[in-house]
Amino acid sequence: MLKIFDDKSKILREYCDEVPLPLSKKDEEVLLSMLHYLEKSQDDKYAEKHHIRSGVGLAAPQIGLKKRMYAIYYKKNEDEVIQYALVNPKILSNSTKMCAMKNGEGCLSVKEDKEGYVYRYYKIVLKAFDVLKNKEVQITAYGYDAIVLQHELDHLNGILYYDRINKQNPFEIRPNSEFI
Ligand SMILES: [Zn+2]
Repeated sequence: MLKIFDDKSKILREYCDEVPLPLSKKDEEVLLSMLHYLEKSQDDKYAEKHHIRSGVGLAAPQIGLKKRMYAIYYKKNEDEVIQYALVNPKILSNSTKMCAMKNGEGCLSVKEDKEGYVYRYYKIVLKAFDVLKNKEVQITAYGYDAIVLQHELDHLNGILYYDRINKQNPFEIRPNSEFI
């Protein structure tokens, strides 16, 4: 069982290091164990038994590693699973249009959800090495998919989602943006 570090831990505020490629066996194993953790966390019975919270994304610093890699796993609908095990992700381009989740975001490292809109790019093109495909990939993502990729990328730069909430006006409505 992976130990999840919370937002009081210094590592959650650090800028993570690039990961050498080709990927070492150890890094690959760790990243796949993170993906597996997410998948299991979405099984209610398993999560309850092991006292873990359900999550869709997990970045290396959240398990105490200062490395630029993260895993994502969720079911988009009945028969479509979105899953990635990404190393050294980088945003190549983004829309000017923004989006935010109408119910706000959550994070395995943040015990109590913080209320407010977290604005992110509506569309991104991201490149990374994906362990699941064993090659460099370019991912074009919109809306929720783009939000998850950006939330995890923030972790690699020491940023937490609530840093992006407007403290004076947490529910500010911004132009050129969409709620998801
Ligand atoms: Zn998070």
